[in-house]
Amino acid sequence: MQGGLDKGNPKLRELVINRQWCKGCGVCVAFCPKHVLELDDKEKAVVARFEECICCRYCELRCPDLAIEMPLLPQYGPNDLSA
Ligand code: SF4
Ligand code: SF4
Repeated sequence: MQGGLDKGNPKLRELVINRQWCKGCGVCVAFCPKHVLELDDKEKAVVARFEECICCRYCELRCPDLAIEMPLLPQYGPNDLSA
């Protein structure tokens, strides 16, 4: 997934969900204010609407299994996610 988003935070490169760690609790789906995430037919979280992501990080912070990562585009550092 590349940057250049029409919506959301353009610094975000992708939303990575580790399917091996995801236990399908649905916490990330419930907390996402933009309905970016869904559970698939295997009860694993998937990114359904990446372009809607506003990088609030609720999903990453709330996942009890640390299964979500939000890598930024290479020109940005770890403190650049907000704004
Ligand atoms: S919060 Fe974490 S473990 Fe729960 S569904 Fe989302 S990614 Fe999977
Ligand atoms: S960072 Fe926020 S908007 Fe983006 S998927 Fe996670 S909870 Fe949804």
